[in-house]
Amino acid sequence: HSQLAENRFKNTILYVNQHLVDGNCLPCNSIIVRHPFSHAIVAAVPLTTKKMAIGLIHEAAVHKANFSNYQKYEILSCCISELEKLADTAASIITLESGLSLQDSYSEVNRVLDVFRVGAASCLTGSLPCYPGDIGSTGKARTIYSMRVPLEGVILAITPFNHPMNQIAHKVVPAFVAGTGIIVKPSEKTPLSALFFESLLRKCGVPPFAFSLIHCRPGPLLDALLVHKDVNLIAFTGSVGVGKYIAQRAGYRRIILELGGNDSLIVLPDADLEQAAVLAAEGAFRNSGQRCTAVKRILVPEKTKDAFLRALCGQLENWAYGNPFNETIKVGTVIDTRAADEIEHRVSSAIAAGATLCAGGRREGALMEPTVLSDVQPDMLLVKEETFGPIAPVLTFRITEDAIEMANATPFGLSCGICTNDFSAAMRIIRRLHVGNVNINEVPGFRTEYTPFGGIRDSGLGYKEGIAEAVNLYSGLRTYSFPTD
Ligand code: NAD
Repeated sequence: HSQLAENRFKNTILYVNQHLVDGNCLPCNSIIVRHPFSHAIVAAVPLTTKKMAIGLIHEAAVHKANFSNYQKYEILSCCISELEKLADTAASIITLESGLSLQDSYSEVNRVLDVFRVGAASCLTGSLPCYPGDIGSTGKARTIYSMRVPLEGVILAITPFNHPMNQIAHKVVPAFVAGTGIIVKPSEKTPLSALFFESLLRKCGVPPFAFSLIHCRPGPLLDALLVHKDVNLIAFTGSVGVGKYIAQRAGYRRIILELGGNDSLIVLPDADLEQAAVLAAEGAFRNSGQRCTAVKRILVPEKTKDAFLRALCGQLENWAYGNPFNETIKVGTVIDTRAADEIEHRVSSAIAAGATLCAGGRREGALMEPTVLSDVQPDMLLVKEETFGPIAPVLTFRITEDAIEMANATPFGLSCGICTNDFSAAMRIIRRLHVGNVNINEVPGFRTEYTPFGGIRDSGLGYKEGIAEAVNLYSGLRTYSFPTD
């Protein structure tokens, strides 16, 4: 990995099955990874064959690791110290394949460290309820206890490109704590962060039957795995369309869907506009705007629109964009030129339909300048659909009631941020929003790795992930009773 990091500015780096190889022998049957900023090929990762994938699922279903809680704690603690040592390499790999700025990549690595930390801590704690058995007409002098057990079979996790390492950590760590085997299919756009993560866990003693990777594109292999008899749980994070496709195919098995979002930041009339502008910029531009919980619509009162826009445009000087490996750069590229084409198309269509370009708007290849637009209308594609890039569209409302309606008026229901110091108004809005998470005077995306997180409506089925909840979802709850007399 360190060699990979050292070579990161050279044109061609090949990283095949964890070995650097000669750039002249690009293997076929591989996923070719390009650095989104330079478009240089950086890796070729072999596709997993059907035979290998089925073999991995079989192994994971047959063997259970049987680590004690303390052994799990020690393994996760080892992952923490190894990742701390290799943080530079990990961040470079994320930037290399995703084009996210190094600053974003370091923050991703820190989040992965936090996932290991809360996962390790959860191995040392935990109490499960027990219930009196002598209540009701069928009651007896007994006590009913409960215990968590690993799921039978195996978890199939499918992850997106936008948080290429942390999304995997959020699936693998709770599965490991729960004792259930997991097979992860990472995004074919970002397989290297997954390989790095896998090597870290292997080094600390996680066996392949507890966690393995498969690399494939959507197609017959993945279709077959979705309905494999040993796959008892599918944990998917990604877009709404794919999530619904999986839900349709999955049949009689547990599915957890963490899907897209179209989150708003509601700026109430009493809000501190400077603070609101800081949050709007952070929410819209961080991670190149590619977060499920990115601020995708900024709702401001008509009366404060001009002052807010001045404050927001003033923020742009803090959001330098450019070469993601430059340490002063905050906004790197989006995932590829195709994604940038689509975002640019949505921006220009919005402008053609009456929106005003207040700042930004340039782009080159996959690199997009952080962009502020005002006079945006709810029916413009830019805000009607999820736009996954560093764009801050500002919409206005007359009364707070309208803002709540606008916030709820998309099929999504992930998160929301509200800027106000009127906490009783905030409470009323929290009750009225159709979302899974709300933050006051914060970006919609604020969360910890431990706390429950997840969306409703098209953003998910309402199950929460985050380590605390995911350990429950990734295991079974067995109840048993003993006589108390
Ligand atoms: P995507 O849906 O295109 O791909 C996600 C994963 O699904 C990839 O691994 C991909 O290979 C796989 N996939 C694609 N087609 C498939 C099929 N037919 N069957 C099975 N798997 C298939 O999403 P993306 O573009 O990688 O990621 C961006 C999306 O993820 C955005 O919509 C974003 O909001 C969402 N997201 C949601 C959360 C959340 O927690 N709610 C978090 C991060 C990202």
